[in-house]
Amino acid sequence: MEQISGVINESCIPYSEFKNNVGKVVSIKGAIHNIRDMSDFAFIIVRTARELIQCVYSPEFSEYRKDENVVEQAAAKLTGLVVKSETRDGSERYELQIHNIEILSKPVAIPPVVISKKQINCDLSVNLDNRPVTLRNPKERAIFKIQEGIQRGFREYLTTQGFTEVHTPKINFAGAEGGTNVFNLDYFGKKVYLAQSPQLYKQALVPVYERVFEIAPVFRAEHHDTSRHLNEYISMDFEMGYIESFTDIMNMETGVLKYIMNLLKTEYAPEIDLLKVVVPEIDTIPCIRFKDAKELCVKKLKNITDMKDFEPEEEAFLGKWAKQQYNSDFLFVTHYLSKKRPFYTMDDPEDPEVTLSFDLLFRGIEITSGGQRVHDYDMQVEKMKKLGMNPEEFETYLMLHKYGAPPHGGLGLGLERLTMHLLGFKNVRNAAMFPRDINRVSP
Ligand code: ATP
Ligand code: MG
Repeated sequence: MEQISGVINESCIPYSEFKNNVGKVVSIKGAIHNIRDMSDFAFIIVRTARELIQCVYSPEFSEYRKDENVVEQAAAKLTGLVVKSETRDGSERYELQIHNIEILSKPVAIPPVVISKKQINCDLSVNLDNRPVTLRNPKERAIFKIQEGIQRGFREYLTTQGFTEVHTPKINFAGAEGGTNVFNLDYFGKKVYLAQSPQLYKQALVPVYERVFEIAPVFRAEHHDTSRHLNEYISMDFEMGYIESFTDIMNMETGVLKYIMNLLKTEYAPEIDLLKVVVPEIDTIPCIRFKDAKELCVKKLKNITDMKDFEPEEEAFLGKWAKQQYNSDFLFVTHYLSKKRPFYTMDDPEDPEVTLSFDLLFRGIEITSGGQRVHDYDMQVEKMKKLGMNPEEFETYLMLHKYGAPPHGGLGLGLERLTMHLLGFKNVRNAAMFPRDINRVSP
């Protein structure tokens, strides 16, 4: 009887093993990404999970050039001799001199968009309509490899800081932030909502694990079509207990971001190079109070009418200001007005008009909102009543306060927003693998 051991016997080697196999005949598997036919030889570029491997038909094996099954996008196993070559910039490169090509599967159609060129050259909407195909382009897929690095950095760093990773339900009775942008759902005749954020649950877990984080989708029924809003996005959230000040949360976020940027530079260098990403250097991040930031905006920008919040132009201006003044791509804006922050936000005991909260701007756009939360039961009930909410509807949420909770706070960081600004995109959809917006639910 056959026994399964958990070990896969690979007949192929990854590209990283080429350097140890120069002069040997090896096999690789991958997609035929591009065929470049010259007069007496031809290149076949093979796309593996992360590389493009240059393979070359030597004339004596050129019968494959006549094989009509050898076409772009076919899945293949290639066997050949590993040789070392040099690139124009003098760096080492290895290629395969093809002896044999076994076609594992052949496409039945030509891709609707050319994906074998350096970059996809079509409208964003066409790119998104054809995502299963366009993602195969090395530059497109690099975006989401970098996005993987961001999530991985968030997870790895927080794990070292004693956080527990959790998953909270996405089908909920009450929307955390309330408001108009919740998706209603019929749940066996009951009215429920898709989670806008894990807020109420992650707070409930603070008295349990002290520090928790979650990386998961959240849903916002944004009725507008903007370049920075999706209707489903990945929120990277954390919540931490026993804080001494809300600056503990900002320090934790600064540590997370430093770790992420370093991880990208070291372990995601191929993608960072391919997309020519300028990875921000983070030493310290400057902080400015909302009131002072508003004053700066009023002085420098015209037609500012909303004194309670920022318009995108103001955020953009503050981003430039932080770069000029502090050479920082990031800026914490703190002490937002109480009126503008959700019911669970802690007011500043020194000035209850403002909150112990912050947003983090990255290159002039909000990527994070966070702050200290109310942990005292009476204070929370009173605040809810003041805001016209019915505390009875939040009975299970208030268990957290009722049965004792430490001072705590946390934040939510939008993964696509961060990716978008790191990669310099004008539209958040470029940074979403399969975006959901007001006009798009497919693919
Ligand atoms: P904005 O003011 O930009 O609409 P917000 O203040 O409503 O955002 P928060 O509830 O503070 O958003 O969410 C925390 C983070 O989640 C934001 O800083 C942002 O990075 C991200 N985010 C919020 N809404 C969206 C969205 N619709 N699409 C993509 N990312 C979002
Ligand atoms: Mg916000």
